[in-house]
Amino acid sequence: MPCLVMKFGGTSVADLARIRNVAQTVKRAHDEGADIAVIVSAMSGVTNQLIDYVSDIAPLADLREYDAVVSSGEQVTSGLLAIALQNLGVPARSWLGWQIPVVTDDAHGSARIQRIDVDELRRRFEEERQVAVLAGFQGLELGRKRITTLGRGGSDTSAVALAAALEAERCDIYTDVDGVYTSDPRIVPRARKLDRITYEEMLEMASQGAKVLQTRSVEMAMKHRVRVQVLSSFEDKPGTLVVDEDEIVEQALVSGVTYSRDEAKITLQSVPDRPGVAAAIFGPLADAAVNVDMIVQNISAENGHTDMTFTVGNADLQRTISVLEKNRDQLAYRELKADPNVVKVSVIGVGMRSHAGVAQRMFQALAEKGINIQVISTSEIKVSVLIAAEYAELALRSLHTAYGLDSA
Ligand code: ADP
Ligand code: ASP
Ligand code: MG
Repeated sequence: MPCLVMKFGGTSVADLARIRNVAQTVKRAHDEGADIAVIVSAMSGVTNQLIDYVSDIAPLADLREYDAVVSSGEQVTSGLLAIALQNLGVPARSWLGWQIPVVTDDAHGSARIQRIDVDELRRRFEEERQVAVLAGFQGLELGRKRITTLGRGGSDTSAVALAAALEAERCDIYTDVDGVYTSDPRIVPRARKLDRITYEEMLEMASQGAKVLQTRSVEMAMKHRVRVQVLSSFEDKPGTLVVDEDEIVEQALVSGVTYSRDEAKITLQSVPDRPGVAAAIFGPLADAAVNVDMIVQNISAENGHTDMTFTVGNADLQRTISVLEKNRDQLAYRELKADPNVVKVSVIGVGMRSHAGVAQRMFQALAEKGINIQVISTSEIKVSVLIAAEYAELALRSLHTAYGLDSA
């Protein structure tokens, strides 16, 4: 039997009417004969609420307890969907992460999946045609037998990992947009839906802020060659397929423009300009598990000193500041400045490999709107700039137009 993994995000299971609607969609696929595993997120807003509870009680809470709390939203939706399916006469049961188990490492709050045991699911497909409804986002750390979670948006990764383990024909990610667009359609009204996108471009788009798929889910799809489709849970029409580069007929120079508000800029003013200074700054941050993204080192006015500017995720800002302050004597900087009011805007496309002038067009378009670029970084298929947060929408729309991506 062909096997299909179907994942439904928070807005798709936001209330009981929508859960019943999801049950109908699953039933149709089941009626066609496929073995079905469904992954559900928590009802929209629930995970945020749970995280707020935890940070209200303790801003830097024990992450094992954080996971115990924030994983609970998915328990509710998996049970409700199993019941809704049973109501329609479809054999179904819910599974929590620990019951499968979805084995992860012990990086609580953003654990990585190590393996998924699918023998029992397969047996039930064969013997009972039972639909497996899995709570997404959850894992189990075997050493201490603790529940883990996979990071925000982690149900996407639960789904792709399960599709890989089950060698599923496809992994359908149902969400509140009907596919992957050239830019976030909520901000760029003229964004266009893409029929196909390469794994590589999707990976860059996700990691540069397009939250439609969690970055790790794309990494996993790429590694295990899982066919992923992003589609709407409200309209019955094909979505966007994530595929290999050779499956794309016409290659655009730029296929997407993304933004990320999850950025904070740190500047260390006047640090001694000598070998080892970067290692001294970024070593302790790496030890504290802070992910540093863009980095620039300037020539400072003072002789023998330099300014170091870099970005970290907003969630890591306080930790970054406290690590740098703790090491202040050794780093010998004059002042630490932190600015959370920045966004990173990126243009992405595999076409960049073979064409020059992509970055220049970006700088030109931003200059024409009077938008100042604070930091630049590039990779083989992307150019990113850091700008003041207030210009995010303007920058996104201008770049979308500048690269000829606007819909007619
Ligand atoms: P779910 O709850 O189903 O997991 P998410 O909110 O995580 O849904 O992701 C879907 C959202 O991603 C869309 O509502 C859209 O605003 C946003 N998004 C950002 N960039 C893009 C893009 N390039 N294409 C489609 N959606 C995007
Ligand atoms: N409920 C989790 C979150 O909001 C996981 C997910 O929806 O993918 O991050
Ligand atoms: Mg999501």
